Amino acid sequence: MKTLGFACTSADAPLAPFSFERRAPRSNDIVMEILYCGVCHSDLHWARNDWGWTVFPAIPGHEIVGRVIGLGPDVTKFKIGDHVAVGCMVDSCQHCDQCEKGEEQLCREGNTGTYGGFDRHTKEHTLGGYSKHLVVREEFVLRMPDGLDLAKAAPLLCAGITTWSPLKTWNVGPGSRVGVIGLGGLGHMAVKLAVGLGAHVTVLSRTPDKAADARALGADALLVSTDEDAMAKAADGFDLIIDTVPVKHDLNPYMPLLDVDGTLVIVGQIGPVAEPSTIPLVLGRRRIAGSPIGGIRETQEMLDFCAEKNILPDCEMIRMDEINEAFERLEKSDVRYRFVIDMATLQAA
Ligand SMILES: [Zn+2]
Ligand SMILES: [Zn+2]
Repeated sequence: MKTLGFACTSADAPLAPFSFERRAPRSNDIVMEILYCGVCHSDLHWARNDWGWTVFPAIPGHEIVGRVIGLGPDVTKFKIGDHVAVGCMVDSCQHCDQCEKGEEQLCREGNTGTYGGFDRHTKEHTLGGYSKHLVVREEFVLRMPDGLDLAKAAPLLCAGITTWSPLKTWNVGPGSRVGVIGLGGLGHMAVKLAVGLGAHVTVLSRTPDKAADARALGADALLVSTDEDAMAKAADGFDLIIDTVPVKHDLNPYMPLLDVDGTLVIVGQIGPVAEPSTIPLVLGRRRIAGSPIGGIRETQEMLDFCAEKNILPDCEMIRMDEINEAFERLEKSDVRYRFVIDMATLQAA
């Protein structure tokens, strides 16, 4: 089917209207009209070829909310008109041990990215959610629960699940002591979800000026990481620290904050960090871990939890043709806390 997106044709070109074809639905595919798409920091990296493997023309977008407008004949979970969502992956092998456990994000053969992946049948390069339509096999489609605000929910599909998954992996619940480093798209969701699970939540920030923001998001406290006295007093006080900082940084100041068997989990940065000392790791039996998104079942559980608890990202709605300006602002962290594109504003040039 012919459709329209917003694509970049090279790393230094701005995004612009782009006509292209989505595949005809296979027997187990749904066709989705996209209503909203969140703007993730990965979208910016992908458009600018920061990782060195972008295929152009590139269409970013993996926080996708929309409506079912077409169905393959074997689809059983959805019907026309259902509100649905798609996150960071659109396929996996479906038969390895990780897929069978519902951890498709860890598929032994690699999951297929919503953008930047390669279709497992045609080998064509996948194009993301900055577009009018998407065709996806039903196993990778999430159901939007009733009562969840469609216009604001899109960032749950990447920022939400990326912070929810470690909260579940490390069994966060009432009484858990959770720290969150970085208060951007991921960090603000980590705070809201951890608060929703009943944890005692502390935002860690280099300066005290985020205190009001942290409180507004529901956090119990702000710890200023450059205040040595406050950091010393907070030693051994956390079960889990979620590190959402997207750039290279030093983990060493945070390690003494973890209690015995505590974990610092990296969800923001992909790449080298400053050299970590093993002293606090060994002596306190502490751990440094990493975590990518989450599986489909876990993503559905997170959406249902957010609907039940009325947890939504703080969004700034933009028009599709404001995306280049939004990327510039995102680079400067000038957004509270996630841009969402109203896809009804996507028009041909
Ligand atoms: Zn993302
Ligand atoms: Zn697999």
